[in-house]
Amino acid sequence: MSVALRILDDGAWLSVDDQRRVSVSELWRLDAPEFCDCDLVDFIAEGFTEVSADGREVAVTTYGKCIACGESGVPGRLPVGRIREGSYEGYDRQHVVLRPIERRG
Ligand SMILES: [Zn+2]
Repeated sequence: MSVALRILDDGAWLSVDDQRRVSVSELWRLDAPEFCDCDLVDFIAEGFTEVSADGREVAVTTYGKCIACGESGVPGRLPVGRIREGSYEGYDRQHVVLRPIERRG
């Protein structure tokens, strides 16, 4: 089982098996207390720099900003979907709170 994960257009899209699946300018709600002082971060993604799959979870390293307070930066790797039986399944990113995956090491 292998799924091709790629970042396209200078970080504007995450492509899975040659289909554009996640785009910047989505508004995500993050539980990332280290990113800014807001209870939940109203995060607008501005670019993807890296994509990884840990086990079955697909995560993108994303930079962007909190539209509530203006803080910008990289909150970490954000889980956007998962691989199930060889195909990609996106999370309902508009309606859940995403939690950055801790960096390891
Ligand atoms: Zn904020």
